[in-house]
Amino acid sequence: MTDTKYIFVTGGVVSSLGKGIVSASLGKLLQARGYRVTIQKFDPYINVDPGTMNPYEHGECYVTADGREADLDLGHYERFLNVPTSKYNNVTTGRIYKTVIERERHGDYLGATVQVIPHITDEIKRNVSLLKEDFDFIISEIGGTVGDIESLPFLESVRQLKRELGRNCICVHLTYVPYIAAAKEYKTKPTQHSVKQLQELGIQPDILVLRTEKLLHRDLVRKVALFCNVEEEAVIQSVDVPTIYEVPLVLQEQEMDAIVLHKLGMEVGSEPDMSLWNDFLRRKDSATEEVRIVLVGKYVTLQDAYKSIDEALNHAAVYNDRRLVLSRINSEEINEGNAAELLSGMDGIVVAPGFGERGIDGKLAAIRFARENDKPCFGLCLGMQCMVIEFARNVLGLEGAHTTEVDEKALHKVIDLLETQKNIINLGGSMRLGAYACVLREDSLAYSAYQKAFVKERHRHRYEFNGDYREMFEEAGMKCTGENPDSGLVEVVEIPSRRWFLGSQYHPEYTSTVLNPNPLFVSFVRAAIGE
Ligand code: GLN
Repeated sequence: MTDTKYIFVTGGVVSSLGKGIVSASLGKLLQARGYRVTIQKFDPYINVDPGTMNPYEHGECYVTADGREADLDLGHYERFLNVPTSKYNNVTTGRIYKTVIERERHGDYLGATVQVIPHITDEIKRNVSLLKEDFDFIISEIGGTVGDIESLPFLESVRQLKRELGRNCICVHLTYVPYIAAAKEYKTKPTQHSVKQLQELGIQPDILVLRTEKLLHRDLVRKVALFCNVEEEAVIQSVDVPTIYEVPLVLQEQEMDAIVLHKLGMEVGSEPDMSLWNDFLRRKDSATEEVRIVLVGKYVTLQDAYKSIDEALNHAAVYNDRRLVLSRINSEEINEGNAAELLSGMDGIVVAPGFGERGIDGKLAAIRFARENDKPCFGLCLGMQCMVIEFARNVLGLEGAHTTEVDEKALHKVIDLLETQKNIINLGGSMRLGAYACVLREDSLAYSAYQKAFVKERHRHRYEFNGDYREMFEEAGMKCTGENPDSGLVEVVEIPSRRWFLGSQYHPEYTSTVLNPNPLFVSFVRAAIGE
């Protein structure tokens, strides 16, 4: 294939329609036809990246291997495509402007007035094409909803690109078709309006994807096609399905991938090979026995705050032939008094990552319960740090042991900043981010999970296990079984006398995909079901 093909995905009517899932699903189908596919996300907000945003604003913050704090949709892209994303896969308005303003200050515009068109749109277009060397298809998802002021420069760039790229480019627009219960009817008017808005901006969508609760009558589809100026077979229905992993099949049934190829002037050829994907779904559907896992964290009421952890547990359950029953407990509502009552019915406990003081005591209580009652327990990042603090206080008897993130003057700073980090002032981008190497001790639980001694996992934190205490911990039974070969920093702690008690300073959840579940999660769930 010579020319890279570009697919832009926009959304209308309402947000949260699952543009990311539709993009990932289409990407999956094209990949299953043998093409190299990547998906990038353009976010219209002014933050340079989502790193400083509260999970309530933005859901989980995902991290790429090269250390970019990114939109959680990149997690979907990786879980579906099984190919790592990079910093080029997520670009925000803030980053676009930052680059343009830096260039302006540097004098690169030679005295010109710097404007949205062409300077901002040119920078957006440059970002669209950054990945073209390595991929046959670049799917670019435009965040936000058509009609937002913020997304205008992105849509203008799409308009320009469509003109410049001609047959190598198509636009997919995702909308919502609501059901009005009182009238017992599905309504396509919002879709028509949304497409009109796009057309006013100079973009005629080539394919429409309609999100609906139930399959729409053919007459309605015909009507949408007519009013929106789209061919009837290019109106795809994305009916609600039990899990996101079924969406590729929904699109495949309607031959969306073939329609895309056809519109791009490519040969359609044979069907995509989805056999491994289907094996996963079959295995998922045939699991009848449950595994009950509880996630202890601060943001439990927000569906997307721990997306990658939820999905990693889902993958691990499927590969253990179990149906995941995942509950969540707010770490601010658990304490030593109620921990037994809340946790004893569970097969395994995951202690979530996080920042700041709130909820730490609850995490410590949950960990203490797990350690004393030998419940499989998995600490992720802050969760691992809490495992260290709990052990220091209740096993080593180090009263006042804490992380300096919460108590700068702690008597025992078992979790602390490195000397080199102590003069950091900027919160944005001041963390240990991205993939770092970790060497595992061969007699460890981690090694037996990964079946190898050298792994690379992604980080997102500032504080570290304080090496001054390492010997004390080891002697008392908490082993540091993974460390970074360059810095000697502790990456994994375990208590071998427990059934499964492990904390990782890194976030193993980010690398778990449908076809490649993360080994630590698989091993944890195996222990939770008692094997
Ligand atoms: N707040 C802790 C740190 O910065 C842990 C971060 C996390 O859990 N991602 O080190």
